[in-house]
Amino acid sequence: MVGGETGYETIPSDLSVLNTFAEYDDRQETRDFCGVAAATSELGAPLVAPIVQTLYNLQHRGHQAAGVMLAEEAGETVFKNPGYVREALARSVWGGYETVPLKSALGHVRYSTTKGDGFTSAQPSRDVDEETGLRLYVAHNGNLVNSEEVGEKFGIDPKRHESDSLRIGSTLLAAMVQIYRKYGDKAAGQELELAMEEVMPQLIGAASLVLYDGARTYGYRDPNGFRPLALGRRAGDGWALASESSVLPNLGATFNREIQPGELITLWGNNIRSRNLFRESPDSIRPSLCLMEYIYLARPDTVLGGLEVEAFREETGRLLAKEHPLDVDAVVGVPETGMSAAMGYSEVSGIPMKRGLVKNANADRTFIARTQRERRQLVREKFQLIKSNIAGLRLGMVEDSIVRGTTSSELGIMLKEAGAIEVHWLVASPPVTDPCFMGINTGTHTELAAAVYDYQELQDYLKGDSVNYLSMQSTMQAVAKAAETVCRACFTGDYPIEIPVSLLDRTV
Ligand code: SF4
Repeated sequence: MVGGETGYETIPSDLSVLNTFAEYDDRQETRDFCGVAAATSELGAPLVAPIVQTLYNLQHRGHQAAGVMLAEEAGETVFKNPGYVREALARSVWGGYETVPLKSALGHVRYSTTKGDGFTSAQPSRDVDEETGLRLYVAHNGNLVNSEEVGEKFGIDPKRHESDSLRIGSTLLAAMVQIYRKYGDKAAGQELELAMEEVMPQLIGAASLVLYDGARTYGYRDPNGFRPLALGRRAGDGWALASESSVLPNLGATFNREIQPGELITLWGNNIRSRNLFRESPDSIRPSLCLMEYIYLARPDTVLGGLEVEAFREETGRLLAKEHPLDVDAVVGVPETGMSAAMGYSEVSGIPMKRGLVKNANADRTFIARTQRERRQLVREKFQLIKSNIAGLRLGMVEDSIVRGTTSSELGIMLKEAGAIEVHWLVASPPVTDPCFMGINTGTHTELAAAVYDYQELQDYLKGDSVNYLSMQSTMQAVAKAAETVCRACFTGDYPIEIPVSLLDRTV
């Protein structure tokens, strides 16, 4: 079965349908903070429900758009829409494919900072060369700093796409076409691997990718390994890839290992091939897994660099208790990510942990809302207070991090309104002082609370009686058990890649 409903992309094997979605590109600056997934099947399996379920469980990585690419022998179909997975990929969208055997499927959830409607750069992207019949589907997590320049080298007009994700697909397809023209049939289906060998070493920044070229499925992680990508084995029938190891069971897979920085994995049915595109130049590889993945972004049951995220978070709480002992009546974690550190703090300090906040599971995440006003409003929608655990008490409020400070500031007001006598902020990471260029929307310098305010101003802004950050030394101690070294540039300003001055200037 190949076919989609009106409004969705359908690509028959004769490639006669063009990618109409490029028309929606609103030319706004775009950054990516996304989740990706892929699965293969040797004999063909009904993969659509598993890939959509996987995206549900990656929803925390982006909720502005979601999409899937479904590959049959006869061709591929892409469904993608704005909004949460439950809306963008409702069963009514893909239900006709529920029992259709697929040899590959890609999935993507997207967060973007564009001022557009969230649909801009929805993925998987699709690029087709009518003349050669080459085609490419890409789902991307990360943000690159030079995709325009690299794209131009391969003849891609920088105005054609404003998003890295779309640009990666077009650039790789252009390189594939060049290779096909050079080697003809001798390229024997290796056009994409050869294109990646040529293009990826030129790109600077974060790119965890899943790709499909009409025959094979691929997974790739940039040489710094900023964003995670995990490999899973599907019960004798194929392989799976996902941004986080914890969602692999949704694809019928068991966790095999993490894709290494610079590694390209090629999958076809039950087969797998691995190569490191940077093996010839190991000195250029500086593994830099994003520290924020541990602190805030990833699910607690995800394994990053061999270290389970929950173990890291609880340890930061223990270390916080040693660095900042407080005379308070109760420790309250800000759900969800602050809860783990609160447990660690309570364990070491002996101060009882109380549940003072309830998080509305259906409310938005403030981190990925777009404006300050939107974020403040969402804080009140997101949290309800349990007054009996707040009123008349001196509270140690544990947060995973403070970026813009909007959540903590609003919570500080709410806690005092509910009768808290004292509110002491305990932050399980160092102050965020610098913007991220590798895929996380931490904002500009002027938006970062710790960059803008001195201590007294910050305390006032957060409506706190004190503000206590975990030191960088202790944070590094908590992550020391991980096999990969980390990027911590938003805490130090020391970026592991060269950031163009034009980008730095935009964040002052
Ligand atoms: Fe992660 Fe911060 Fe590095 Fe960005 S700058 S990749 S958010 S640690």
